[in-house]
Amino acid sequence: MIPRLAGSSLFPLATLSLLIGCAPAYISQKPPTPEPMVRVAIHHRLEAAVIEALDTVWASDGIHASPLAPGNRWTVTARQGRLVAETGAGTVIGEIGPGLTFRGRARFSLNGTALDRPLTLSPEGGAGLLAVLELPLEEYLLGVLSKEMGNAGGAELEALKAQAVAARSFAYVKIGKKPEQGYDLESDVSHQAFDPSAPAGPAIRKAVEKTRGQVLSCRGRVFAPNYHSTCGGRTALPSEAWGTADSLFPWAKSVRDPYCAVSPRFQWRERVPSAAMVRRALGLADTTIPITDVSIMDRGPSGRVNRLKIRSQAGDTVLFRDRIRFQLADKALPSSWFDVSCRRDELGNVASVEFTGKGFGHGVGMCQWGAMGMAREGRGYRKILKHYYRESEVVCIR
Ligand SMILES: [Zn+2]
Repeated sequence: MIPRLAGSSLFPLATLSLLIGCAPAYISQKPPTPEPMVRVAIHHRLEAAVIEALDTVWASDGIHASPLAPGNRWTVTARQGRLVAETGAGTVIGEIGPGLTFRGRARFSLNGTALDRPLTLSPEGGAGLLAVLELPLEEYLLGVLSKEMGNAGGAELEALKAQAVAARSFAYVKIGKKPEQGYDLESDVSHQAFDPSAPAGPAIRKAVEKTRGQVLSCRGRVFAPNYHSTCGGRTALPSEAWGTADSLFPWAKSVRDPYCAVSPRFQWRERVPSAAMVRRALGLADTTIPITDVSIMDRGPSGRVNRLKIRSQAGDTVLFRDRIRFQLADKALPSSWFDVSCRRDELGNVASVEFTGKGFGHGVGMCQWGAMGMAREGRGYRKILKHYYRESEVVCIR
């Protein structure tokens, strides 16, 4: 528990009451709908969190609160499942928990990154810290689009709008789904890439504002749409990518996509040495064990590899679907849509494998480079979304 310091008081919980902007406010007779908030895990298992107040910030463990004056610095670590904070004056506060939230209408920094939204630290994984940022959904989208589509500008505004609707839908579905874990979303590509400090340019701001409150619905339900960088000419079915039943993803069809040919990853070539495959795919420490063949057993409907067989003197290993690209080499292959060509040594064993492939990412749902290609040809964001999410419609959060 944090001791009360002179002048400290319980921090009043601020409530935001913002209009969701699907309909112009002047024609709405309904009371304002509170804007959804999202909690994003911006760090896992941090060794230490150095919080420096840029304005006055309050540190609260849920019962008491202490102020950090501008320039004050706290270093927070985890010990035996509890938090310990060392203040700038050298005072050590122990046994804090279960969480510690920094908030205020203020700016502060976390390990040098400037933030101005509530940040909660809690112990994670023995000696590490989980850092969760809480912010309004629309503001969160600025940080997602900057990371996911930072290379798009005004000429691709409609693609940015399509991305905003897709990312908003994904986040909206995840809000509150796992209350026990203390946050809604990861900040990497396992959910959506997000950087709270990434600068959002004018095109991104416009795309988020122009689609405010809009999400994707299929058969009457808002869904969490998958998307990826580059499909390479045709998008994938979920069953091809992950082995899951396509009936669970009625919005996901395999569609032809000529629009992503502008992507630098539309076609690619990678060479993987045999030793890397022995270590990664076969899980063997002795990387001198010879691989005798690498072959594609079968493909999915779009052409992506369904099963890849690695034959070695230790036996046969079969790798499946999209996971193949992470299992083969230290650096993941761009996609699972490829041909293989074995290069052999003088004994006839495989020395390396050359992969010639198409696309970047799992291939399911919207292709971001394809969306940019469609935008450059003058297609609107609703058309773009309909191309990749066939049975979907754009609706407003109520
Ligand atoms: Zn594509």
